[in-house]
Amino acid sequence: MRVVLLGPPGAGKGTQAEVLCRAFSIPHISTGNMLREAIEVGSTLGKQAKKLMDEGILVSDEVINRLVVERIREEDCKQGYLFDGFPRTIPQAIALDEEEVYLDLVIEIDVPDEVVVRRMSGRRVHPKSGRNYHIQFNPPKIPNKDDKTGEPLIQRDDDRPETVKDRLKIYRSQTLPLIEFYLTKSNESALRYIKISGDDSPDIVSTNILERTKQ
Ligand code: AMP
Repeated sequence: MRVVLLGPPGAGKGTQAEVLCRAFSIPHISTGNMLREAIEVGSTLGKQAKKLMDEGILVSDEVINRLVVERIREEDCKQGYLFDGFPRTIPQAIALDEEEVYLDLVIEIDVPDEVVVRRMSGRRVHPKSGRNYHIQFNPPKIPNKDDKTGEPLIQRDDDRPETVKDRLKIYRSQTLPLIEFYLTKSNESALRYIKISGDDSPDIVSTNILERTKQ
């Protein structure tokens, strides 16, 4: 099963990705998490990406496509995978086509802008695993600590309100065209396209997605 999660920053893609990957037994491929890991280990890629990410600007298609193509050639991707935060531009989606990657399912998580801004200001992340929390809607068991490791949670630099507004603008201009791209593809191929409201608690959103995928 090859799945793409589409939706604005703060739609809850990371949280839903974890549930879906467990349900479908497929790896979670988050380009954002891969870049944050590269920053953490101080690689050349990490150094290049950090400034762009802090400002909410997209990393180049060339760099991202190379990263993803290498990742999906790994052994654990044989039975499929779930993309979270990729593709984010039409050239990235075209790169998947050129690799002859046939997607089974695109899930669009739909959330209004004002909810995105509210959510992102309360978002906290465990940097090593990419596990996401929200201080109000999805709090960790112990405040500011990761549930699994007990390690401290951080607020991402790009979750600051002024950066969030820029990220939404970039989402609208660069990523939104992918909705039309995949809707058209779903009319012409076996690809399924599902649109789900993300303006609910994470549990309700997961239940709704899983029910729709069974239909
Ligand atoms: P995310 O964790 O998916 O919200 O990604 C955080 C940041 O990483 C984005 O704002 C971009 O700077 C960068 N990034 C992640 N995925 C991509 C992608 N597919 N294309 C370009 N930049 C990306």
